[in-house]
Amino acid sequence: MVDPVLDAAEIARFEAAVVRGPGPEDCWLFTSAIGGDGYGRLWVRRDGRRIMLRSNRYALALAREGAPLEPWERALHGCDVPLCVRPSGADELGRPRHVYAGTQRDNMEQMGRSGRGGGRVAVRRGNAGLLARRERSIALREAVRHGWDAEAVADALAVGHPTLW
Ligand SMILES: [Zn+2]
Repeated sequence: MVDPVLDAAEIARFEAAVVRGPGPEDCWLFTSAIGGDGYGRLWVRRDGRRIMLRSNRYALALAREGAPLEPWERALHGCDVPLCVRPSGADELGRPRHVYAGTQRDNMEQMGRSGRGGGRVAVRRGNAGLLARRERSIALREAVRHGWDAEAVADALAVGHPTLW
């Protein structure tokens, strides 16, 4: 849970690390710490303890405006960009755009749609897939170091990612 008043300083720290794409469909990227899994990392304090959260989970909790995120709710990505922290609903066809709350089952379905995990490809690629995802996140962070650069972002998204087109 993120309290808009009590956690104001923490929220400001999070917001300062986010670079927002200008377009209505662009991702918002977290540009602070990146974990080995390619997801953004944010340290926060809860009940006197420091805990580490993925930036997409934090973004989803923040969007709840003080209402808690349930333990079974996962922060999933319609855009398949681990650094994305843009909370969003579905498009007109019902497909989720960016960060949304879902169950583990939704996560498996999303992975199937985006070609991640679950299948033979993931087994074959194993750790290489994880490394490629981290490499792509680092390239993305670098691409927006001086603000949103659409061309640099597109190049970064192609890093270590099997292109289908
Ligand atoms: Zn996104």
